[in-house]
Amino acid sequence: MTKIISISVSDIRFPTSKDLTGSDAIHTDPDYSAPYVVIETDDPSLVGYGINFTLGKGNEIVTKCIQCFFPIIKNLSLDEVENNIGGLWSECVDHSQLRWLGPEKGVVHLAVSALFNALWDLISKKNKKPLWRYVVDTNPKKIIDWLPFKHVDDALSKNEALEILTKSQEYKNDRIKKLESEGYPSYTTAAGWLGYSDDKIVDLCKEYMANGWKYFKIKVGKNFERDSHRLDIIRKTIGNNNYLMIDANQQWSVDESIKYINAFNKYDVFFVEEPTHADDILGFIKIKKNVGEVKLATGEACSNRVMFKQFLQSGAMNICQIDSCRLASINEILIVMLMAHKFNVPVFPHAGGVGLCEYVQHLCMIDYALINGEKDNKVVEYQDSLHNHFKFPCRIVKGNYIPPKDHGYSIEMKEKSVIEFSYPNGNYWKS
Ligand SMILES: [Mg+2]
Repeated sequence: MTKIISISVSDIRFPTSKDLTGSDAIHTDPDYSAPYVVIETDDPSLVGYGINFTLGKGNEIVTKCIQCFFPIIKNLSLDEVENNIGGLWSECVDHSQLRWLGPEKGVVHLAVSALFNALWDLISKKNKKPLWRYVVDTNPKKIIDWLPFKHVDDALSKNEALEILTKSQEYKNDRIKKLESEGYPSYTTAAGWLGYSDDKIVDLCKEYMANGWKYFKIKVGKNFERDSHRLDIIRKTIGNNNYLMIDANQQWSVDESIKYINAFNKYDVFFVEEPTHADDILGFIKIKKNVGEVKLATGEACSNRVMFKQFLQSGAMNICQIDSCRLASINEILIVMLMAHKFNVPVFPHAGGVGLCEYVQHLCMIDYALINGEKDNKVVEYQDSLHNHFKFPCRIVKGNYIPPKDHGYSIEMKEKSVIEFSYPNGNYWKS
């Protein structure tokens, strides 16, 4: 029986602040970083890898917090992990002492996420499947055992979830074939980082259009005149047949959001992401009531399924942007995607950063094949950065994510990248 024999975590940081990749209204100089968990077993061919995502400073705090959970999974067999992944999840999330640091938010939740991302990698490798395929192929009743219904069963009951999953069994083989022949459409954020010049934005838009992208998102929120100017040049560059979205990264007050969204409406904005503080559900409701048909998108900073539940119930979230590292891995992500489906809100996973595209490619495939069954007018974020550090990077063809075929959850990093970018003693940071 294969057993876990060692667990480690490293602090990996990439110096992306140097070229302003990832710069937005509030995060002006991110160094895309990841606590990197490695779970070894007594079978050398079965190693689990998992990450979380941070912007640099503080990565060491999440790294340290992950270690607090090691005793819970140390020495478990892989059968015990696979058969009790729902129970282990609750044991970590509801840890009698660590829960005080959250509950289910902030550093402690990011730590659980990284650890379970590694465990799910291990489970799908044990079953010799890419993670998305392992989930899609699993019996719906078994999936129900993975899911944390606690605190959200007033919005989605076990029976309702089971019904959604059971119904999709009829269609899932056709959907898998469709994914394999067409892929899953993506949108790009990489053309419009706040720190980029006009020329760079125009060139990037043209380049992405030539490569098949139809959806473009840009960062706004720092300066109204400059934002209007950037929206104007991008709309002129991409024409009226492509989609334009904006992301304010929580920069505006509720009243400013209403004012600016209405002012930007002339550029035919498809959705507005995080206009105001990510926790302000009542604020989102007020904004939504005052901006007509414009859709509000949020979720990348939405701490847990309970927040998603309220956003979905209130009608204030029109695009559900789950985050593979903010939510505590597959257990919690699946239940949020099921709730979104029940409330008829499309899921557009948040990605970019480091490793998030590698993760969300699995999540959109699961959403399509097992839950929602729609992919017209649905897109998942894509950003062309740092994929070269992964052994099995995501693949994009004509703007579509191609379903991953390699076993696991696609996050193993190249050894030389780990050595180079370990903080503070890797070769890059030492010199
Ligand atoms: Mg965003």
